[in-house]
Amino acid sequence: MGTSVLLRLSHGAAPPKIDKPKLKRRFSMDLYWVLMSFCLVLTQESLVYADQAPPPSTDNRTLMERLVRAYPDQLQGYEGNDIVWKDGTRMAFDDDIRDKPFETLLNAPSLRDEFSMKYSPGQPQGIPMENFDPGRIRFEPFFERMYGNCDKNEVVPKLSTIAWLPKHNGGNLKVTAVNGVDHKLAAISKELDELPDSYTKYLIPSAGIYNCRAIAGTSRRSMHAYGAAIDINVKYSHYWQWSTEQKGNYKYQNAIPYEIAAIFEKYGFIWGAKWYHFDTMHFEYRPEILSPSSE
Ligand SMILES: [Zn+2]
Repeated sequence: MGTSVLLRLSHGAAPPKIDKPKLKRRFSMDLYWVLMSFCLVLTQESLVYADQAPPPSTDNRTLMERLVRAYPDQLQGYEGNDIVWKDGTRMAFDDDIRDKPFETLLNAPSLRDEFSMKYSPGQPQGIPMENFDPGRIRFEPFFERMYGNCDKNEVVPKLSTIAWLPKHNGGNLKVTAVNGVDHKLAAISKELDELPDSYTKYLIPSAGIYNCRAIAGTSRRSMHAYGAAIDINVKYSHYWQWSTEQKGNYKYQNAIPYEIAAIFEKYGFIWGAKWYHFDTMHFEYRPEILSPSSE
């Protein structure tokens, strides 16, 4: 016992050593980490923009393959510049017109133009650059052939009923059965139903699926006209057309948690919150756009 007291005393009594080089080293290490963190922030900023650049070197064959792989029920393959449908129909992929202005990309795209902006699955990295809308470019003849023309009553007969978050009484929704989208949305609904209850308010009531109207202020159809897009609860959503900012300068806003979008992306749906022209309640089935991050 005596020894331990002595030891403790001698230990306690030892004067604190001031090691100046050590202090100096610690200070420079602190400075190092401050600088490193600063550099990391800068790198992440530049990554945001790098990631949003169009994939410049992707050749037509790779893109056509991706398109065919995304819609195996409908497409048979490709030949030359043609996408070949299972019924033998051919559709030109590339119109050889480059550097289209943004409005032209929206209003008169080729099938190839759909791939001109890379959609990145996963947690959003920053806010989208001006006019960066991956997936908002749609070659309408392609989708009309696939899902039908709603003006000719070709879409409604292909709709199928699914239960929306049945454990939370989300009611029923009608969605296209083409490409098995109904089964995919049913699987999404099942997974969303298992999220903590705090997520339910974003999802119920759903603002709907099928709508034959054109996109507000345009003559273009949205994926709602094909029964292949869903809007979740409008109450927690933000939409660029509601923005009070001047045209072309919309303040980005989103309140929908990514955990919801992660489930949609898993089944081939892209999220409107990843667009400069944001539509945060909107999810549409676009497996060709949702390419693996390796491509
Ligand atoms: Zn929508």
